[in-house]
Amino acid sequence: MNQAQCDNCKTEYECDSEAPSGLQLRCPSCSSTSKTFSQNIGGEISFLSMLGFKGRHTDKSIPFIWGKVGADLFRKIHKVVHLERTFDKDNDQYKEEIIDKSTGEVLHRCDEPLSKHQGHGSAKNLNKIT
Ligand SMILES: [Zn+2]
Repeated sequence: MNQAQCDNCKTEYECDSEAPSGLQLRCPSCSSTSKTFSQNIGGEISFLSMLGFKGRHTDKSIPFIWGKVGADLFRKIHKVVHLERTFDKDNDQYKEEIIDKSTGEVLHRCDEPLSKHQGHGSAKNLNKIT
C-alpha cells in the first residue's frame, strides 16, 4: 500500500499503485483521479515506467525529435533494463542505449546517422524489445 495525496483537495488516502486499477483510484472526498504517491515503505520500487517524448517546431506538424526513456522489459533475457532511444531528425542522429539495471552492463549501444538507420536490419530486431 502506498499513501496518495489528492492533487485537488490534498486529502490523503491509501492507494495501491501497483494494482492494475491503482492509478485510476479516485479520491474519497472529491473523486479526482489526480494524485501524488508517496512511498513510505522500504525496499526497491520495481514498477516499470517509460516516458515517450516528441518535439515539434512550431511551424511544422511533423516531429523533429522523438524517443523513449525509461525501464523496459528485455524479453530476450527476461530482465528489466534501462532503455534510451532518441530519433533526432534535425541532427540526423539515432541513439540507443540498453543497460542491464542489475549489473550496469551495457547490453546494446547504437549511435549512427538516422538516415542510415532507417530500414536497417537491426531496426527490426530492436522493435521486438518495445
Ligand atoms: Zn480530492
